[in-house]
Amino acid sequence: MAKPKIALYWAAACGGCDVAVLDTNEKILDIANLTDIVFWPIAIDFKYHHVEAMPDKSIDLCLFNGAIRSSEQEEIAKLLRAKSKIMVAFGACACFGGIPALANFSNRSEILQRVYLEAPSNENVNKTVPQLLTKVAEGELELPELFDDVLTLAQVVNVEYFMPGCPPTADLILKVVDAFAKGQLPPVGSVIASDKSLCDECERIKEEKKITKIVRPHQVIPDPKKCLLEQGLVCCGPATRGGCGSLCIKANMPCRGCFGPPPGVVDQGAKLVSAIASIYQGDSPEDIARLVEEVVDPAGTFYRFTMADSLLKRKRIK
Ligand code: SF4
Ligand code: SF4
Ligand code: SF4
Repeated sequence: MAKPKIALYWAAACGGCDVAVLDTNEKILDIANLTDIVFWPIAIDFKYHHVEAMPDKSIDLCLFNGAIRSSEQEEIAKLLRAKSKIMVAFGACACFGGIPALANFSNRSEILQRVYLEAPSNENVNKTVPQLLTKVAEGELELPELFDDVLTLAQVVNVEYFMPGCPPTADLILKVVDAFAKGQLPPVGSVIASDKSLCDECERIKEEKKITKIVRPHQVIPDPKKCLLEQGLVCCGPATRGGCGSLCIKANMPCRGCFGPPPGVVDQGAKLVSAIASIYQGDSPEDIARLVEEVVDPAGTFYRFTMADSLLKRKRIK
């Protein structure tokens, strides 16, 4: 019997999601045995034209990681969508925009200006900035267009499943591949993680304590048994879906929110602001001003992984 065909792709990504697949250790061999990997740019030398030549819906499962921020990524997302029966937004970047979507606090021209003309580490005496088309002796060279907005995969194509995490854990990856191989995938539209919030799964002692200040991880050694938020650390647990096995919490580090919002929460950042406000002791304008000062980079803290999928989506372009 023919093995199911599987494709893996990275768009605006760091490579960590692909490494997470390799992190399944010897089980990667099971994945390779159970499936026929027909496209995986980081690991196997297939070209786009190989995918273009495949019949529509001939790929059984596509694990697509990374956000969409260029015309090339949009084109390949649409190509893989046409060729795949099941499309999985794999990792926080594909699901919510992830770290790349923090670029939505800028726009294309600001990014190019900063990266190519202002960054102190960049020596660019000719002030060269990438162009879509460049004439050379041999003809025209074309670069993909950088979009103003970083988008989630589902903002570009239909997606059957969402697998959050930065990156998804090896356990979740194996669970999905196993369910896929057995034809036991959950209903379309499911998020492959827990249906509870991280706080619901966290074993730390919660004392319903109020806080009077926010501290950063390098400023304290937290009590390993007690809730980190109640110790003044910005722990995203109340606004984050469970399912990672409390990885950061077990390392005595606050959750940064990479599993995205829990069920029923539309905007992870707004939920986190509300959770912090509810345990903050102090309501004078001075108290609140001090609290705001204590959160370094509030937008990046509250929307670290979900800016593209938030109600805000981006900074207003002037
Ligand atoms: S989700 Fe995390 S690990 Fe995966 S590509 Fe994005 S930044 Fe990298
Ligand atoms: S806020 Fe963080 S440390 Fe506290 S219960 Fe929730 S996940 Fe655990
Ligand atoms: S604790 Fe939070 S940041 Fe850490 S892996 Fe889990 S969801 Fe991601």
